[in-house]
Amino acid sequence: MPSGRRSTVLFIRRSSARALSGLPDLLNGMTYAAEIYHLLLYLDRARRLCVGSLGPCDFPAGYYVYTGSAKRGLAKRLARHARKRKTLHWHIDYLTRVAQLEQIRVKSAGSDAECRSHRAIMKLPGARVIVPGFGSSDCRCPAHLARFERRPAIPGAGYPGAVEP
Ligand SMILES: [Zn+2]
Repeated sequence: MPSGRRSTVLFIRRSSARALSGLPDLLNGMTYAAEIYHLLLYLDRARRLCVGSLGPCDFPAGYYVYTGSAKRGLAKRLARHARKRKTLHWHIDYLTRVAQLEQIRVKSAGSDAECRSHRAIMKLPGARVIVPGFGSSDCRCPAHLARFERRPAIPGAGYPGAVEP
C-alpha cells in the first residue's frame, strides 16, 4: 500500500449499532480523499425485497459484499448500515435491514477507488451480480453488490494499520 493510506478491519459478531460504538475513535484521523468500505453481509434465507426504484428483487441466501464510499461522516454512515431500524434511502438499506452484518472493511484511497474496489471484489471466486444496478446509480458498474455462496475472503487483511480484535 502507498504510504499514508490506511486500512481498518472491523469484525462484528452482532449486527447492532452498539457494536460500532467505538467506531468514531477507531476512524479518527482517517481523512483522505475518499473512504472506501466493504460490508460483508450474511442472508440466512432467500428473500424478495422491494428495493426502492429497482422494484422487487430476489436475494438468494448467502454472503453479500457491498462496496460504498463516504467523503465525510464515515462513522455515522457505518453506524447507519449497522442499524436495523432506519428510513430506507439507499439500495443497501433494504438489505442491511434483514441481513446480518458480519464485517466492515475500511480503507482510504483516491476518488475512483470505490469502483476499483468493487471490481476487485468481483474477481474473488464465486462472485456474482444478483441485482443489476444495486448501489451503482452514480457510476457505470453493473452493481456495487456481489453475492457469494460461501463466505468470501475480502482482500485487505494484514495491511499496516489493520485493527483486528
Ligand atoms: Zn462503480
